[in-house]
Amino acid sequence: MTTPTPIKLDLPRIAVPKAPQWPELGDAEKEQLRTRIKRLLKERNAVLVAHYYVDGDLQALAEETGGCVADSLEMARFGAEQDADTLVVCGVRFMGETSKILNPEKRVLMPDLNATCSLDEECPADLFSAFCDQHPDRTVVVYANTSATVKARSDWVVTSSIALPIVRHLHEKGEKILWAPDKHLGSYVQKQTGADILLWPGACVVHEEFKSFALERLRRLHPDAAVLVHPESPDEVVKQADVVGSTTALIKAVAEMDNRTFIVATDEGIFWKMHQLAPDKQLIPAPTAGAGATCESCAHCPWMARNALQNLAETLENPAAHHEIHIDPAIGRRAVKPIQRMLDFARKQETAKAIDA
Ligand code: SF4
Repeated sequence: MTTPTPIKLDLPRIAVPKAPQWPELGDAEKEQLRTRIKRLLKERNAVLVAHYYVDGDLQALAEETGGCVADSLEMARFGAEQDADTLVVCGVRFMGETSKILNPEKRVLMPDLNATCSLDEECPADLFSAFCDQHPDRTVVVYANTSATVKARSDWVVTSSIALPIVRHLHEKGEKILWAPDKHLGSYVQKQTGADILLWPGACVVHEEFKSFALERLRRLHPDAAVLVHPESPDEVVKQADVVGSTTALIKAVAEMDNRTFIVATDEGIFWKMHQLAPDKQLIPAPTAGAGATCESCAHCPWMARNALQNLAETLENPAAHHEIHIDPAIGRRAVKPIQRMLDFARKQETAKAIDA
């Protein structure tokens, strides 16, 4: 099986915004905001669900208040298990939408509804649906980083932590796959599983910037460092990795491996959790640009950066003002099926592992 080439399509051009520059907060101001947010969370019977890529202050607050800090699979699971009336999702829009799809009876709020994702933007529902119609013989597997409408058109939703076992399972059943939207992750999954995969040509603007030549140089400077790479990164970067995996897998590697130094190719927001679990280890960001090159995100997602203590407080104070996620119920009813299929698969896999252990 040869490496699949992404299909040729004129995708919408993404205008990557600059990350917002939040005013620096003094200790007293920060504490005031944290106290206000804690009070509002209680008053609104709300819980915080934060992604590893958002600001460390938000991750700390989520943990302190009984919320969670996790990858998108765990965020979806955690939200569905909560008794709270309101889920406040600190991350990007598809994460809030997934929470709403799984919890239609709950109110789902986000600090900034314009926090999108290049993968989601590069997979418009009408273009994607027409493409699926042209390939009715293929099982449609979409990454979680997609809109509710795209999920509703799919057979399976996957996150990076569960993509390999699900595609392996489909391949073993003899199914051919249509994969969207991340071409790098899809290519990695194809190589690992040998599945017949047709690739949508989307990419993450953050991971696509990691540069293989500069990484080689950095590895020579730190020969004892382990290289950790998220599979949304380009193939030439993935090839240099000691560990390729989801955010959760990379965090686990830092905590469990004997190396003292790690070169990390994923969003720098993840360093907060890595430092928390392994404070004595050295973390070096993988290079995003060679000499003279430009980088749009510089290893930090400009949309994840739209989450801050300031707009989180405002969200809880004034939820009706442009912070609430709404999903068309008909779309939600269709989209929940492939998401639930993924969650059921993950649960069965964990049960099987527990029995084997
Ligand atoms: S880091 Fe990449 S994949 Fe994640 S939200 Fe940002 S643009 Fe999307």
